[in-house]
Amino acid sequence: MEVGYNVQATADAEHNLVVDVYAGGVNDLNELSTAGRRAQEISGVKKIDFLADAGYHNGTQLAKCERRGVRPFVAPRQGYAQKEEGFRKSDFKYDKSTDTYICPAGSVMRHTSTFKRKTSKVPYKVKRYTTPDCDGCPLRSQCTTSSNGRYIERPIHQAYTERNDRRVTRYRDFYRRRQEIIEHIFGTWKRHWGMTHAVVKGKEISYARMGFGGLRKVESEYRLAAIAYNLLRAVQIMGLEKLQKQLGKLIFELWRLLWPTWSRYEPRFIVFP
Ligand code: SF4
Repeated sequence: MEVGYNVQATADAEHNLVVDVYAGGVNDLNELSTAGRRAQEISGVKKIDFLADAGYHNGTQLAKCERRGVRPFVAPRQGYAQKEEGFRKSDFKYDKSTDTYICPAGSVMRHTSTFKRKTSKVPYKVKRYTTPDCDGCPLRSQCTTSSNGRYIERPIHQAYTERNDRRVTRYRDFYRRRQEIIEHIFGTWKRHWGMTHAVVKGKEISYARMGFGGLRKVESEYRLAAIAYNLLRAVQIMGLEKLQKQLGKLIFELWRLLWPTWSRYEPRFIVFP
């Protein structure tokens, strides 16, 4: 089985209403900044706190969000355990003012190269730091087996990642609200309404030029679900009577706006056999 569509949904923390639904790429790792930008545009709010699970933890995306006023709170992913014994990266202290690392022997490791890491699902740039002091270092046996000496790597968006991780740790209770906000919506769609997969999927080719390809159809299916969910929430928030009045006003306004356009067309009737 191949995953074809991946539905992304954003909800607001005040009323738990769905703000946005769209079918994004199959990998969550690249979606954070797009989802954040769309939430900003739809809500009209420039500065927002954006909570997401560990599947969205990606330095490049965290940096993009922060630069445009979306403050991310994304759960850090568990790193791989180091197999080799000896000094770990955490034993090397980073100095932000000089962009250098101080190694356990007290030597300064300077930035010597930058390269693109392509092995990851999401390519990202990495800076490498080295020191010429490894030759003859008394701690070398605890540090590296490489004949070129030890190096430390730092993704170029590491500062954004560290800031995000500190925020999540510091405001743990705030981050926990993520589950109660968004999981309730997905829980309702999947468990109560049986929407475990899209019904109106289909080939993109036939309708692609008209913009009604499979992706758009899946998006529409989940947007209808979002409208239904929001209406149910609105009944709980403002009561049925008030909601009916508001919807009546909305329909009247729409009719008033659209009537000048509609009224120019001759009525056409389609008769079904
Ligand atoms: S081997 Fe190099 S990096 Fe490691 S402690 Fe010695 S000087 Fe520092």
